[in-house]
Formats: sequence, structure tokens, C-alpha cells
Amino acid sequence: MHTDLISAIQYLHSKGWAPATSSNYSMRDARSPGHLWISRSGVDKRHFREADLVCTDAQGVPLADPTIRTSAETALHTLIYAVYPQVQCVLHTHTVANTVAGLKYPGGISFQGLEMQKAIEGNSTHEEPLNLPVYANTQDIAALAREIKPYLEQNAGCYGFLIAGHGLYAWGDSVAQAARHIEAWEFLLETRLLLEIHGIRTHS
Ligand SMILES: [Zn+2]
Repeated sequence: MHTDLISAIQYLHSKGWAPATSSNYSMRDARSPGHLWISRSGVDKRHFREADLVCTDAQGVPLADPTIRTSAETALHTLIYAVYPQVQCVLHTHTVANTVAGLKYPGGISFQGLEMQKAIEGNSTHEEPLNLPVYANTQDIAALAREIKPYLEQNAGCYGFLIAGHGLYAWGDSVAQAARHIEAWEFLLETRLLLEIHGIRTHS
């Protein structure tokens, strides 16, 4: 039923981007756009299957059994769907590169001069800056959602944000586009850290 999303989740795990049962994922219901399918908490993503997706309302409350625990970060998924009606899929990864990059650049990251920037929807050249906002980590996800909301509302073409010392969120208008975006951001973040180590500048 959600074979594209489940394939994407298993692929991201195979890349080593969802270690130790971390990371969470969601998509809109194809027939009822106000309903979401969100990954259950604490599942080893290597074995992720259809039964590990929980159908919720737009606030992330499970429809069948409100006592089921969806991801602790459900409020960040519901925020993205609420701000962007066209978004169909949200992916969240925990990698070494995105964990380090968020702490290294707490004020946000601007990429320029990298061909991979074009993999993010709406970007047709490496010559223009591409911004990825960074937020401080907290266990108060509701407060974090309130902090992120104004940026998303003011940036219609935004397709990701980073939580420092924690992980990356990316989304798209389809599962395929969301998967492309998360791979592109991860590539850009790893590249940025290597450029920093080697003292290489990509623009003046
Ligand atoms: Zn997380």
C-alpha cells in the first residue's frame, strides 16, 4: 500500500542513515489528504514494514487507537504538512555528517558553488546560494515546531532544516522527490565538512 515509502525507508537504512532505531518518516494519505501515515516509535528500520505505519489525523493523533505511540517528533511532521499543502512525504535522518554540521554551523548553512544544489527543487544553478536553516536541539518538540513555523511560512521553496546535534528533515511533493532531497542535503553536508577540513572555498 505504501511500497514507495517503505522502499525509501529501507534504502535510507541501508545507507546507514537510520542507526539504532532512530529516524522517522511519513506521508499523506493518497485518498484523504488530511490524514497522515507516520512511522511507529522505536522500530528497527532494517525490518520496516507496512504495519509499522500508523494512520493519524492532521495533528498526529492515531485514528484507530489513540494510545499507539507514533514518533516522538510527530509534531514536526504535522507542521510541515500544515504549512505546505503540496507536500506528500517527510523524511528525517540521523547521520554523523548532519549531526556534526548542525553543531558546526548553528546559525544556518549557505551552500554555493556546488552542482548538487540543483537536486533541491527550484534551484537551477550552483551559482546562487542555497540555504539550510539550523535550530538548536530540544526535547520540547512542540516548542521547536513553534520556533520553526515562521521560517517555513516565509520560505515557500524551503525543502529542509537541520536540528543541531540531532538530525535532518527533508520533504517533497512526492516520496521520490523527498528521497532525492534528503540524499542531496546529506551529500551537501558531507561535502561542506570535507571542504572545511581541507580549507577549500567554493565561492568568494
Ligand atoms: Zn530525530
